[in-house]
Amino acid sequence: MPLAEAPVLEARGLVRRYGRTAVLAGIDLRLAPGEALLLLGPNGAGKSTLLRTLAGLARPDAGTVRVGGVPVAEARAQVGYLTHESLLYDELTVGENLQFAARLHGLRDRDAVPRALASVGLPEQGGRLVRHLSRGQVQRVALARAFLHEPTLLLLDEPYTGLDDRSASELTALLVRYCAEGRALVLVGHQPEQGWEAITRLAVLARGRWQIDAPRPADPAAAAVRYREALDG
Ligand code: ADP
Repeated sequence: MPLAEAPVLEARGLVRRYGRTAVLAGIDLRLAPGEALLLLGPNGAGKSTLLRTLAGLARPDAGTVRVGGVPVAEARAQVGYLTHESLLYDELTVGENLQFAARLHGLRDRDAVPRALASVGLPEQGGRLVRHLSRGQVQRVALARAFLHEPTLLLLDEPYTGLDDRSASELTALLVRYCAEGRALVLVGHQPEQGWEAITRLAVLARGRWQIDAPRPADPAAAAVRYREALDG
């Protein structure tokens, strides 16, 4: 099968146990180009564990993850991952942090850093020390780091944390553009409103399994109702 026809992401039968508890008890997930999944679930449901596993940073006890048709271990350059930690060095400037990340990715394109900074609305901030930035600005630089190598699969763990309304709208617009280019996205959120315009699917993880994996409901209020029903069910 030519790579272009492969799903961006295909996870099958993912199991992850901590002690006797299966945090992931057999999770399947397939994302076609252009799809954006909003992943909701209560605290401790396993959302971060799933994201780390999809990113190839945690090995599942069972199951497989393929990105662009190849095992994720061989496709890490195709994955952009935003964790709760910014992965930035406080004592380096914004630009130095991103240049460092660019070197880790083996990027030769000199425009990659300015392009990533512009994409998160911080084109003039390359010379500032990270420790002098506000929380929202740090979050935007962390996003620039995740976007830097223009991955085909973006995994964002609560990316709206710390963003003001304007930055949140800019992020949503960026995610819409990103998916329109044939990439795919998993967005872990708390409220359906966040990133709503960007998402195409809603999934709810609880008790180790999908309680919902469906096309996006009509509006955020409908999604909130479905979410509550799924948790009660
Ligand atoms: P969520 O992101 O949905 O809040 P997590 O994936 O962070 O959930 O955690 C899911 C469950 O797995 C929690 O009960 C958590 O305590 C447990 N867990 C996560 N990481 C570890 C670990 N390294 N060792 C033991 N238990 C863990």
